[in-house]
Amino acid sequence: MMMFMTCTERPMPRRRPGALRAEQSPRIAWSLPPDRIHGLSIRTSVAIDQVERLSGDYYLYPGATDRALRRYRAFLQPPGRRPLYPQDSECSCRGCSFDDVRHARDVLEEVVRQLPSRPHAELQQRVRALDARYMERTLPDPFAVQRQSRSDSWWRRRLAGGREAG
Ligand SMILES: [Zn+2]
Repeated sequence: MMMFMTCTERPMPRRRPGALRAEQSPRIAWSLPPDRIHGLSIRTSVAIDQVERLSGDYYLYPGATDRALRRYRAFLQPPGRRPLYPQDSECSCRGCSFDDVRHARDVLEEVVRQLPSRPHAELQQRVRALDARYMERTLPDPFAVQRQSRSDSWWRRRLAGGREAG
């Protein structure tokens, strides 16, 4: 794990015990309503908020899905057809990890996996539209299995490094 002095976040995974999570769950929906995530229905935004709040995953916190979607869109933003290259983040905390667009895609995958049917379908549809652009704008990495520790995810089998904007 690399950590830069400029980052004050402590990349320490925290896991709440299951008993505590179960105890909290009935009240969560009636606490502060979450902001609607751009491009998603309020119903799906609420479901995502629940997943984030109940998650014991350090990287899946309230607001993480919104951030992941914004990050994924921003990566794909540059106009033109020049290839884009994901980059490693310099710090593994849950804030800086988003510097690596592949982390944003990891977060989206996990949220989609945990959502119930309708919100699941809605978020999955948005993510797949971005995936199609990601496939167009990135290049396959034939050595991903040797180079990437998590090459089981297809979005990690794309050429990385260099400058993001190509
Ligand atoms: Zn950091």
